[in-house]
Amino acid sequence: MGFVSLGLNQALINTVQKLEYNEPTPIQLAAIPAVLNKQDVMARAQTGTGKTAAFALPIIHQLCAQAGVADDTKNTFLKALVLTPTRELAQQVSSSFKKYAIGSGLKTVIAYGGVSIKLQVDALQDGADILVATPGRLIDLMFKGVVDLKQLQVIVLDEADRMLDMGFITDIKRILKHLPVERQTLLFSATFDDEIFKLSKSLLKNPCLIEVDEKNTAAVDVKQLVYNVDEDRKRELVSYLIGSKNWQQVLIFTRTKAGADDLAREMCKDGLKTSAIHGDKSQGARERALQEFKDGDVRVLVATDVAARGLDIESLEYVINYELPFIAEDYIHRIGRTGRAGGSGLAISLLSPSENYLLEEVEAVLGERLAQQWLEGFEPDLTKTAAPTRKNTRSAQARRQKDRAFGKKTGNSRRKK
Ligand code: AMP
Repeated sequence: MGFVSLGLNQALINTVQKLEYNEPTPIQLAAIPAVLNKQDVMARAQTGTGKTAAFALPIIHQLCAQAGVADDTKNTFLKALVLTPTRELAQQVSSSFKKYAIGSGLKTVIAYGGVSIKLQVDALQDGADILVATPGRLIDLMFKGVVDLKQLQVIVLDEADRMLDMGFITDIKRILKHLPVERQTLLFSATFDDEIFKLSKSLLKNPCLIEVDEKNTAAVDVKQLVYNVDEDRKRELVSYLIGSKNWQQVLIFTRTKAGADDLAREMCKDGLKTSAIHGDKSQGARERALQEFKDGDVRVLVATDVAARGLDIESLEYVINYELPFIAEDYIHRIGRTGRAGGSGLAISLLSPSENYLLEEVEAVLGERLAQQWLEGFEPDLTKTAAPTRKNTRSAQARRQKDRAFGKKTGNSRRKK
């Protein structure tokens, strides 16, 4: 079934055709009619499934159907608001709106922290129909009195699970207080768990529940490999893989910002042009690094999980988990960077002996075991891991490191409570 049958206006049909979206993706097939029908929606969809168009296209359709949009008068009242957890996702969503709304007269403004607020204030005062924002910066703008949500018709919470993980719940609740009661609410989340359902109960009215694939399944068409390797040989192995196989665009995940910087520095020494992207980098530096990576000027991008959210890099073939994530669900987001929109991909995880328990958590989320293998020349030194004492196994050390990373909550992530 093509886009034509979904009820979108002709301009949007022409736009998606120009973008060579031949068929709606499953999330688009399910969500677009529901949004057009003015229903609240609760949808589970990973990034890479076409979820942005699933809400952006019907929102644009609805706004265009209203009188007065295409004239030149300033729209001082926002009509649609999209909340995202990260700046990168905000940028991606906002550029999607601009791309889809081309020629409609609708104005999309973006607002996120870490950059001067002045330009965002000016843009909003100039009039906007759609605002894509991170929660903290939106609250700053509301304080300044430049955001009027009284006539808001639709709010989207994009990657709601991530917003909860990042502690945005208080900000979200504050924002919601300023929204009209009569509105449409769309909640998109890569994962569904008790906390998401709790949030949805307070937010959504008789939502249309959409789950387009198996619970927490990894993106299809992504081949997953796990290489056992000693911690101190991981960097060498990564450089070897990229160099010997002549991979040109590789995204590598580390758990920490310092780890990302260290690895990028060492990879450069290995002759591979590498940049790091994480929360401590200025917005300008992150954008530059991403652009250079997209343009092929930088061959390897090392990213932390938070920074990588929202990255949309077309035809990314290779993702390497230099370290497995502490939150098992992040594994799915990571490997979702590859094999996007129908393409195939390869996701490689480097597993040191101390990370075995993290792999078990990933496997529990995936619902499948991942075969482990050794790469010739990089076999782990088993004598190093022999006869660990019960209290001081490397695994126990790693668990303690994870506990520290999550404050006093021992062991498990939010989802494991
Ligand atoms: P998203 O899941 O929103 O991050 O989208 C992932 C990628 O899929 C983006 O590059 C979109 O441009 C692309 N995309 C969205 N919908 C379609 C479609 N129906 N056909 C082909 N590509 C699409």
